[in-house]
Amino acid sequence: SWYNDFVSRLIQCRACPRLVGYRESVKPLPRFMRYDYWRRPVPPWGDLGNARIMIVGLAPAAHGGNRTGRMFTGDSSAQFLFRALYEAGLSNKPYSISRDDGVAVRCVYITSVVKCAPPNNRPSNEEIRTCVNNWFRYELEYVRPRAIIALGHVAFLGIKLALGIRAEFRHNDHVDFSGIRIFMSYHPSPRNTNTGRLKMEDLVSIFRMAMEYAGC
Ligand code: SF4
Repeated sequence: SWYNDFVSRLIQCRACPRLVGYRESVKPLPRFMRYDYWRRPVPPWGDLGNARIMIVGLAPAAHGGNRTGRMFTGDSSAQFLFRALYEAGLSNKPYSISRDDGVAVRCVYITSVVKCAPPNNRPSNEEIRTCVNNWFRYELEYVRPRAIIALGHVAFLGIKLALGIRAEFRHNDHVDFSGIRIFMSYHPSPRNTNTGRLKMEDLVSIFRMAMEYAGC
């Protein structure tokens, strides 16, 4: 399939010098001292045979995907996301902690607009554009999702760049483009989930709307 070829090329990418420097040099957190950090572009994953919903994050976390080598795996955003996926019946486990944690998702494909961990979770506009043009727009073509869930305004920006559309980010709203419905949600980062800005039931309900639209 396209996936293995895509990932084997992706993990060799060094197009953004600042992000390459950061992913390779970020200091392990004390509690992960014994962990062998991944330190490369972080592969997307999911139900490749039936990926009707594409879940799009911003970028891997320095001690999440950049450590574990799988998108939305091993950081606190991932735990919130997977509790919601589990509630909606899209994941067999309510967590995502490592590449061999036994998690299997159905109907969804999990990715990000930027594939390398950025300092302070902030890629530059140039880095977003580079990664979208090198990788993300091809993923959209290969996966051909019926629904997309943009987690946060930077993810939505990347989707807009890839599809060439104009729209404003509005939490809990959606836009349609060429038969694809793009749902928008705040990103499940602690900044949003600890403050109650993004509630579990809101994210679950966005998943349910996407499932209904996509026929999951
Ligand atoms: Fe390559 Fe994307 Fe990583 Fe930049 S962020 S080095 S384009 S994989």
